[in-house]
Amino acid sequence: MSQATDPGGVVIGVDVGGTKTHAAVIDRHLNVVTDLTVPTQIGGVDQVGAGIVSAVAALESNGRQLTGVGIGLPGIVDSSAGSVRHAFNLGIGEDALDIVSRLNTTVSAPCWIANDVDAAALGVYEILRRDNCALQDLVFLSIGTGIAAGVILGGRIYQGNRGFAGEIGHFLADPDGPQCACGLRGCLEAMASGPALARQWPPSGEHSSVEALFAAAGRGDDAATLILERAVEHLTRTIQLLALTFDVDRIVIGGGVADVGGSLLIDALRQGLHRLQSPSPWTRALNLPDRIMLKPTEPVGVIGAAALTRRSRSA
Ligand SMILES: [Zn+2]
Repeated sequence: MSQATDPGGVVIGVDVGGTKTHAAVIDRHLNVVTDLTVPTQIGGVDQVGAGIVSAVAALESNGRQLTGVGIGLPGIVDSSAGSVRHAFNLGIGEDALDIVSRLNTTVSAPCWIANDVDAAALGVYEILRRDNCALQDLVFLSIGTGIAAGVILGGRIYQGNRGFAGEIGHFLADPDGPQCACGLRGCLEAMASGPALARQWPPSGEHSSVEALFAAAGRGDDAATLILERAVEHLTRTIQLLALTFDVDRIVIGGGVADVGGSLLIDALRQGLHRLQSPSPWTRALNLPDRIMLKPTEPVGVIGAAALTRRSRSA
């Protein structure tokens, strides 16, 4: 946790995850002043809404002027309405959680929301801009419980017409693949997300985890390596698709699987991208291996959520 260095107003950024909610007081330089992590209250709009309101209330009395609240949360977000639908992991379906309306009854400062991966993408953008002020466009590919991409174009979140831009986890990866939570079969998310990988390791099915899979692959286990190679093949095609669609400066890899896989994953992705582009001078011109990087170590979820309050960031 960083210490306060700026006496000015602060904002609260909240990153609502499938299991944990991270909330932080953040100064105008986007430094974390203080933070807390609590279990996410799951089960429907009332439970999730109450959990977010409670996390914000716990940080509100920090003695400094609160100028805004930004929330990043899973699902299809309508940022102008301040609501979210279809957050499978939180138990939110067709009925919208009007989180901005709920916060407005308890918080005097203005509130903004964005999809959690979009907010994290904005956080990555703000951090990378500290060292590269020419950076304008990036994609943040989150590989975790789900798979999705946050798209930043010209320094702003690109949500698309209905908020679905970057929901690439539900792109068909294998028509014979397993059932996906969205109702389709063989989605990328059903093939290469954290749960999809954990389901395959160990072969006995006991105590399965992504950590165990990467540890076994790191030891050179052939079966674990094969499982990772199949996932990497899906992910390299996804990276190629994102590069062809948006041609961004950087494709940043994050999410729980990337946190566990670290350099082993990024090296495997770079090797996979070299293999993918090697037969094609045209594809080599994309320079895919050099465009990817691991997410910065800073808490991009809360920093990006806080950055939502600086100005209207969605396009
Ligand atoms: Zn799906």
